[in-house]
Amino acid sequence: MLIAVRVVVVTTLLLAALIIQYTVREVLPLNYLYIATGLTYALTLAYIALALTVPSRSVNLMIQTLGDLCVETLLVYFTGGLDSPFSFLYLVSVIAASMLLYRRGGLLTASGAAILYGALVDLMYYGVFPMPEQSLFLPIAWTSSRLYFNMAANFAGFYATALLTSYLSEKLQRTSEELDVNRQNLAELRALNQNVVESIPSGLITLATSGIASFINPAGANILQMQPAAVLGRHVTELGFFTPNGWDDARERLAAGDVVRRELDDFAGAAQSLGFAVSPLTTLDGVDAGYTLIFQDLTEMKKLEAEVRLKDRMAAVGELSAGIAHEIRNPLAAIAGSVQVLKSSSSLSTQEQRLMSIVLKESERLNKSISDFLRFVRPQEKHPAEFDVAASLSETLDLLENSPELQPAHEIRRAIAPPSFTLVGDGDQIRQVFWNLARNAVQAMPKGGVLTVSTSIENGSYNIVFADSGRGMSQADLQRLFQPFRTNFPSGTGLGMAISYRIVQEHGGRIDVSSREGAGTAITVTLPR
Ligand code: ADP
Ligand code: MG
Repeated sequence: MLIAVRVVVVTTLLLAALIIQYTVREVLPLNYLYIATGLTYALTLAYIALALTVPSRSVNLMIQTLGDLCVETLLVYFTGGLDSPFSFLYLVSVIAASMLLYRRGGLLTASGAAILYGALVDLMYYGVFPMPEQSLFLPIAWTSSRLYFNMAANFAGFYATALLTSYLSEKLQRTSEELDVNRQNLAELRALNQNVVESIPSGLITLATSGIASFINPAGANILQMQPAAVLGRHVTELGFFTPNGWDDARERLAAGDVVRRELDDFAGAAQSLGFAVSPLTTLDGVDAGYTLIFQDLTEMKKLEAEVRLKDRMAAVGELSAGIAHEIRNPLAAIAGSVQVLKSSSSLSTQEQRLMSIVLKESERLNKSISDFLRFVRPQEKHPAEFDVAASLSETLDLLENSPELQPAHEIRRAIAPPSFTLVGDGDQIRQVFWNLARNAVQAMPKGGVLTVSTSIENGSYNIVFADSGRGMSQADLQRLFQPFRTNFPSGTGLGMAISYRIVQEHGGRIDVSSREGAGTAITVTLPR
C-alpha cells in the first residue's frame, strides 16, 4: 500500500510540474524533480524486491521510510535548503510512519527527518555544501536567526505530527481491536442464542405486549403443524392457546408477576394435548417487551399415561374377577356333585328328575363359561413358535365367512400382502385376537357393510388393519374399549377387546384404534417380528 501510494504521490507531483511547465511556457529548472522521481521509481523496484524477500513488515517499512527521507533531503537540497518549498514532504513521511509503525516509528522518523534536515541546512549555511545552481525561488538572505528559527519550527512540526498521528493511529488500532472482540463475542452469543432456540424440542413463541406473535422457533411450528409465516402476526387467542376472556385473565396474572401454566387436551379443536407456560419478557434494561410462550406436545405422553392406567386397571380387574370365578367354581362343583347323587335316587318323580337335569345342565354351562372366562383372564401359557401370521389371518377370515353370523349383506375384502409372513409367537392366541376383532367388526354392522382387512410391513413389524363401515364408537366408548365387561353388543361379554389387548401386549405389539361414530372403525394391530 505504502509503495503504491508513494508512486501515486510522486507521479502526481511530476505531472503537476509538467503541466505548470507547459502552461507557463517557460523553461523551469525542474531537473531535480525528474531526478527525484526517477530515483523514487528505481527505489520502488528495490522495495518490491525487498518486500518479496524479507517478510518482516516493520523492517520493510523502516527501510522504505529511510529511503524516502534521503530522497526528500536531496530534493530539499537542490531546491534551496531553507528556501525549499518541499520540506513539507518530511511531514508526509512522518505521518506515514506514525500511522503504520505507531509512536516509536513516528518518533524515529521525526528524529531522522530532523537530523537530515538540520544537518543539510547547517552544512549549507556554513558553506560545506555549495548552494545549488538552480533555484526555483529567489533566495532570501540566510541569517543565523532565520536558520535557527526555521530549524526549530520544522523540528517542532516533525515531532508534533509524529505524536499526534501515532496517538490517533494507536487509538484507532485499539478501538478496532476492541470492536473485533466485541463483534466476535456478539456473533458467538447470537449463535448460541440461535442454537438454543432452534435446538430445544419445546415450542417457543414470543408475543408482543398486544399478544401478537412475533417469533416462533422450528420446534414450535412443528408442534402446531403450521408454517412460521402463518403464525407470525397472529394473536395468541387466534392460535388457540387462550379464549379472549382467558387471555385477559392471563394478562392480569402476568402483570402480577405470575407465570401462567395450562394444559389443553383438545388444542385447536383437535385431539392434541398441549402443555404451555406464558411468562413476561423483559429486555436487559427492564423494559416490558411482551411475553414468551413455551409449549410442549403432550399427546404422546397422555396416551402413554392412559395406556399405563389401563394396564393397571386391567391387571386389577383381571385378578379380582379370576378370584371370584374360582370361588364360584368350587361350590358349583359341590352342588353339581350332590345333585348328581340325588338324581340317581329311585324315589324321584319324573318332574323332579327333569328339574334336576336342568340344574345339572345349567351348572355344567356355568362351569364352562367360568372355564372360558378364566382361560381369557389368565391366558394359557404362551407357546411361542414360528408361525405364518398371514396364513393365520386368512384362515380366521375363512372361518368367519362360513359362520352363521355373516349375512349376505356383509362383505369381507382382503388385501393381505405378502401372503406369507413368519412371526414368532403363540399362533393360537393371535388367531383368537383376529377372530375377536373381525367378529366385532361384523357385529358393529348389523345391517351389513364392508370389512376390509389389509396388512403391511413397516419397520419389520406386521400391521393388520380391520376397517369396518359399521356404527363406530363415541369418544367415551373408545376410552373404555379395552376395559373388561363393557359391551354394547346384544350377546356380548365385553371380554374380547380386553383379552386381545392382553395377548397383543404380551407379544410386544400394540393395538391402535380410530373410530368415528356412525362412520366406522379401524383397528390396527402391530406385531413385531
Ligand atoms: P363384546 O364383543 O363381547 O361386546 P369386546 O371387548 O369385543 O366385547 O368389545 C367391547 C365393545 O366395544 C363392544 O361391545 C362394542 O361396543 C365396542 N366395539 C368393539 N369393536 C367395535 C367395532 N369394530 N365397531 C364399533 N364398536 C366396537
Ligand atoms: Mg367382541
